[in-house]
Amino acid sequence: MDGKIKKTESDWKKELTPEEYHVTREKGTERAFTGKYWDFHGKGMYKCTCCGADLFESDTKFESGSGWPSFFRPASEENIEEERDTSFGMIRTEVKCRKCGAHLGHLFEDGPKPTGLRYCINSASLKFEEKKSKG
Ligand code: FE
Repeated sequence: MDGKIKKTESDWKKELTPEEYHVTREKGTERAFTGKYWDFHGKGMYKCTCCGADLFESDTKFESGSGWPSFFRPASEENIEEERDTSFGMIRTEVKCRKCGAHLGHLFEDGPKPTGLRYCINSASLKFEEKKSKG
């Protein structure tokens, strides 16, 4: 057991909406300014829409102007996998969920302090969970 989630393509197809499937399992990209989280400001955790792994905390979200939700740091390095992507004639770093292999988006080095990184992520790859206020 390597702790990874493995499902068949038809299983994923059954569990996800067509857009979620296209983005996460076929490395699609939602159109800018159309996803549910680019202009969303809730406090809590953005989880993998496929497997529920913690991916990004709302504290690390920033206004990138790109039209996609953008974060300067992952919630846990353990849940994120980075891979070289040379599709579409560009050299980019693809960001994936390490647990289930879902395509999340891309990583760029033009982000804000303190990391200088910009994780440019599709809303379709994320499921936001609000932080429950204690007491
Ligand atoms: Fe996942």
